[in-house]
Amino acid sequence: MLIVQKFGGTSVGDLERIANVAKRVAKTRDEGHDVIVVVSAMSGETNKLIEYAHFFSKNPQREAMDLLLSSGERVTSALLSIALNEMGYKAVAMTGRQAGIVTDKRHTSARIDHINPKPMGDAVKEGNIVVVAGFQGINEEGRVTTLGRGGSDLTAVAIAGALKADLCEIYTDVDGVYTTDPRIEPKAKKMDRISYDEMLELASLGAKVLQNRSVELAKKMGVNLVTRSSFNDNPGTLITKEENIMEKPLVSGIALDKNQSRVSLKGVEDRPGIASEIFNALAEDAVNVDMIVQTIGADGKTEIDFTVPQSEIERVKGVMERFKESIESIEYKDDVAKVSIVGVGMKSHSGVAAKAFTTMAKENINIEMISTSEIKISMVIDEKYAELAVRALHEAYELDK
Ligand code: ASP
Ligand code: MG
Repeated sequence: MLIVQKFGGTSVGDLERIANVAKRVAKTRDEGHDVIVVVSAMSGETNKLIEYAHFFSKNPQREAMDLLLSSGERVTSALLSIALNEMGYKAVAMTGRQAGIVTDKRHTSARIDHINPKPMGDAVKEGNIVVVAGFQGINEEGRVTTLGRGGSDLTAVAIAGALKADLCEIYTDVDGVYTTDPRIEPKAKKMDRISYDEMLELASLGAKVLQNRSVELAKKMGVNLVTRSSFNDNPGTLITKEENIMEKPLVSGIALDKNQSRVSLKGVEDRPGIASEIFNALAEDAVNVDMIVQTIGADGKTEIDFTVPQSEIERVKGVMERFKESIESIEYKDDVAKVSIVGVGMKSHSGVAAKAFTTMAKENINIEMISTSEIKISMVIDEKYAELAVRALHEAYELDK
């Protein structure tokens, strides 16, 4: 097999840890696999480099920033290659440029355009373990670019896609993807497998295991992703095509987002165009509106409720000033939480939503807003019941079994 292994900042956080990573890579090699390794900068390194730049300028030149930041990953790749060679393994370190990674022009937030597979492919054929510096490439002008914070995951997935690797393993300091946050529900179980779409829903809802952009890329390129810990031998969680998941559980996981605020617009003029005016104005001020509920109007008035990230509430207030004439009163509620139930199995089953509502009723928790999609049910509730709701739902769908 060809396996891409990516090690994040904490996994290569000091020299001892790099030595451990070398052992793990060597073990995979000993099992008879071809290995391409992608590494992050040692933890804290990228931040340190950013601070250095800020010593000189509040708004440092972006081309130079890319050159500066890309050096963090280069250090790790060179060190890991040296360690592997010392252990008797053939290994070669490559920068993004040497690995044939071509991006668009956007300095400090570039996107990978394509990868020339030849340099890495040849090196693997010659029996090398290839150790690539993550998070970087070059643009068409031959300038070094970086992919934005956390971009090494993207490097790994893109390489796995371009070289048609059998597996792309992302090593971090957590064991994989859990049915819910184990800090809230200690009975949470690590999932063996989950589909790309479920992972995307869970990630955007706060299960911060993998960067969303890299899951999207993996889905697009059909890369089998595994997220696992570099500190133990547990197998981790496979993120793959829905077809590869034989037994589709009704519900795979429960996500919690406490970082929500609810805005209630009362006595809104009930006329064509009003929703368009309000939500266009919010969009222009870059407010990320999530759920929206409008109630049926009466006497020419209606009520519109929506949720936004807490950090954007001041911007919402600014926008709403402009609608004083068309809205009677506005209520802002900060202490709300969004609890979501995610699972591909609910596509083909009924009663999943009803069970969620019954569970809330049993706990005496009031549901303030509801929204559903093919694979997700979200409920907005009072923040003080958030943990209780997660635990009750986790039990109701038997995720601890
Ligand atoms: N070193 C970069 C960062 O800290 C990229 C990465 O770790 O993925 O954001
Ligand atoms: Mg990282």
